[in-house]
Amino acid sequence: MNDAIISTEVVIIGAGPAGLFQVFELGLLGIKAHILDSLATAGGQCTELYPDKPIYDIPALPVCGAQELVDRLLLQIKPFGAQFHFGEEVVGVQKQPDRRFRVTTGAGTVFDAGAVVIAAGVGSFQPRRLGLADVESFEGRQIHYKVASAQALHGKRLVIFGGGDSALDWTMDLAAKASGLTLVHRRAEFRAAPASVARMRELEAAGRVRFIEGVAHGLRHEHGILSGVEIKDAQGQLQLIDADQLLVFFGLAPKLGPIAEWGLELDKRAIRVDTEKFESNIPGIFAIGDINTYPGKKKLILSGFHEAALAAFAVQAYLYPGKKQFLQYTTTSPAMQKRLGVAGA
Ligand code: FAD
Repeated sequence: MNDAIISTEVVIIGAGPAGLFQVFELGLLGIKAHILDSLATAGGQCTELYPDKPIYDIPALPVCGAQELVDRLLLQIKPFGAQFHFGEEVVGVQKQPDRRFRVTTGAGTVFDAGAVVIAAGVGSFQPRRLGLADVESFEGRQIHYKVASAQALHGKRLVIFGGGDSALDWTMDLAAKASGLTLVHRRAEFRAAPASVARMRELEAAGRVRFIEGVAHGLRHEHGILSGVEIKDAQGQLQLIDADQLLVFFGLAPKLGPIAEWGLELDKRAIRVDTEKFESNIPGIFAIGDINTYPGKKKLILSGFHEAALAAFAVQAYLYPGKKQFLQYTTTSPAMQKRLGVAGA
């Protein structure tokens, strides 16, 4: 076997609350996992969409911040030493003749896994793109959804799109380093922190930043090189802004993406599972959390936790078919307490 292939008992796709708790439930049974997420950090929707909001329906926690919940889950699963792979989208899952799975990521990482748990929520988060004709041919070269190298933007004519923290942070960072910087947002109100908006207004007053309330209308290019962008302003007038590089920060939107191509039975963009094992139509591939569907399904964090507990037993049965299964309590099981690192406590 190729040395570069990572062999593991389980690959978990998605590090949202369901995927994180899956590590815990597998860990209690002594099963090791690698967990992957296309985002740069754990937490899924909780971290990406509502980190500061309070959650009131987690058992025994009358109120818990969404990011706090993720931090608590990360602490709880620490003893099990799961290996995290962030910034890696799983693009392929293929069953092998030996019942195991070949799992591949867009970054080229390959896993040989005994079983796969898909905890992919509403899909992998992708940047919202600039909705203009011809954008594809400039993406990665002159149109960017994240800043790979700030240095490469120094001395350039920049146009930044967006009204959130990323757009404003990069506006402040690059204003003094670009040869010209225009910020474009469809409204005069911003979602970014008020202090950032105030600083941007100061830069605008000092002539370091130009702000246009408007939307992108078209690209100007010649011989495959982008030279500017047309903006339709709030008065409906077209303004042509010369530009070398466009930075677009419209936030992230979830996309089911490659999961749709793995031969799984889907129902309205969700993976159909049974409610005993939370197994898909492909034996050995399980699905938990918001990504699955079954009669009565409710997309709640609590449901994902329950599903993770039952799926762990099903994963164990798939990996070790002859092994006798019995229910143990964390309160009294020496084996579980050893795995949790609390033996003798
Ligand atoms: P997610 O949290 O969506 O995480 C899935 C992860 O999988 C993502 O990080 C994604 O990047 C990753 N992923 C997807 N595809 C791939 C791939 N191919 N490769 C790699 N990674 C991939 N629920 C409650 O119970 N109580 C509440 O009070 C509550 N409030 C909410 C408030 C808001 C504003 C929102 C939007 C949701 C709320 N929810 C609440 C719902 C709750 O957040 C979801 O049920 C929960 O996040 C689902 O967890 P999950 O782990 O299944 O999926």
